[in-house]
Amino acid sequence: MDEDRQLAVRSPAEPRLLRVNALHALTYCKRLFYLEEVEELYTQDAAVYAGRTLHLDIEKAQGDELVQLVLESEELGLRGKVDALKTANGKIIPYEHKRGRCYRNDDDSPGAWESDRIQLLAYCMLIESAISRDVSEGRIRYHGSNVTVTVPLDDTGRRQVREAIAEARRLQSTVERPPIAENERLCKNCSLAPVCLPEEARIAWRDDADALPLVKEPLRLFPPHDERKVLHIIDSTAKVGRSGGLLKVTIPDEPDESLPINQVGEIVIHGFGQITTQCLRACADLDVQVHYISSGGRYVGSFFGAKSFRVQRKIRQFKALVDQEFCVSLARNLVICRGDMQRQILMRLKRKDSEKDPILQRITDRIQAILKLVPQCTSLDKLRGLEGAVAALYFKSFPNLISEELGPAFLFNNRNRRPPKDRVNALLSYGYALLIKDVINAINVVGLEPAFGFYHQPRTAAPPLALDLMEIFRVLLVDIPVLNSLNRNQWEADNDFVISKDHVWLSDEGKKKLVSVYERRKDDTWKHPVIGYSISYGRMLELEVRLLEKEWMNEGGLFAKVRLR
Ligand code: SF4
Repeated sequence: MDEDRQLAVRSPAEPRLLRVNALHALTYCKRLFYLEEVEELYTQDAAVYAGRTLHLDIEKAQGDELVQLVLESEELGLRGKVDALKTANGKIIPYEHKRGRCYRNDDDSPGAWESDRIQLLAYCMLIESAISRDVSEGRIRYHGSNVTVTVPLDDTGRRQVREAIAEARRLQSTVERPPIAENERLCKNCSLAPVCLPEEARIAWRDDADALPLVKEPLRLFPPHDERKVLHIIDSTAKVGRSGGLLKVTIPDEPDESLPINQVGEIVIHGFGQITTQCLRACADLDVQVHYISSGGRYVGSFFGAKSFRVQRKIRQFKALVDQEFCVSLARNLVICRGDMQRQILMRLKRKDSEKDPILQRITDRIQAILKLVPQCTSLDKLRGLEGAVAALYFKSFPNLISEELGPAFLFNNRNRRPPKDRVNALLSYGYALLIKDVINAINVVGLEPAFGFYHQPRTAAPPLALDLMEIFRVLLVDIPVLNSLNRNQWEADNDFVISKDHVWLSDEGKKKLVSVYERRKDDTWKHPVIGYSISYGRMLELEVRLLEKEWMNEGGLFAKVRLR
């Protein structure tokens, strides 16, 4: 609609006014209101998008007859845009258009959903307050049922709208996220279910939450895949720019490559590739995180937009993680999670060997015995000692996981990091660098503070919470795919590595191969043993961060419970 055909009524002073749509969310579910209005989380699911399309269609269809009204009232503390305003017998009647079906009363007559009713009544009051005209009713057109429902504005309705505004103001001033909706059916149609994870909270509250696998199949509300791509820039002469809605990658003497920026979730610059300021600005606007990894495979840092600075979640995180006992309990989960996966890999090897290897048997027994000590451990230092002992046993057995046919070029004696001294260590180190940037990415998506962890100490550029969470994924996302690629003979000892006197790096070819192995692994799906449905390993990163956050929101119990079977 043309700007000049909109009638905007504004008060001179503009305190932060509440959107009328926010009252709709509040009446639907207080938690939804909080996530959208306080934590400023929005996801555009299909229903939301379809709703917007409908409104655009209506604007077109009304042609010259519609004056769309943008209203604000300081007295009510509200602002909103009325879909349509009509007059009948001298009365002003606001109209609201809804894509879905109407509510059915007990006698099957059409009615309005409560959240729609409060929204429409708020519009009625907003019109009265802003343009001083009496409004006695509003109407809701439910296109899915092809009916129009009349909603009277009476004293009860006025009181309910004022109570809703007061409750919204109360919620805006707290850092506590409201509990999930009691009515499970609301969550099925909620655009923020992938962020809220109500089903996971319900699983955590079940008496048999510790029983694995789940007895009952839960509703799937968390998307199985992230459709957005990760753009890796490996060539150090490459430059990433922006042209309209496209990202353009330019490499001298090669044809340019372009892809729509809205199809990209992350950009990873390996080494000295460049990215333009315009491109960074677009990334900030569109929530595309940019990560830097050094040529030698060290995580360097990340760039992300202002949306990562939402503070409520960080305040809750700080409050929870100053409790040392709580930190130890979370760390125990981590140590068991990683140690058990390491043991399971060795067990798989044992199962493969027809003749039982007595040394391997002793090592897996020893790991199991150490892990049994973890639940009684009450200090982080002792936990680190146990974790170190398991890791030492695991890496001692690691050569047994690599095919002997690969020969001396792929010998592995022990884990060494800075710098890696053999090809297998070079692959593992670079893989862990890819993993840490993905964990940081997931932490930022969820809105937690990466620097504030519960187990690792601040030592390197890698923030402690990211190092904590990495423990869950080292085996799943790096060790297993690296071992599989080795045993499939995918690596060329000369071409894929750069060898110098005291270190081994990956060549650009080697990095491309490893990135491909790693990204393919992230796309693989598996049935999560705790939540009971299949998701990709890539999505699991975000899921575990969200499950961690639930640990301090009275919805915990599912964090770091993944196991290899
Ligand atoms: S998923 Fe359910 S509990 Fe969470 S915000 Fe939506 S309606 Fe509320």
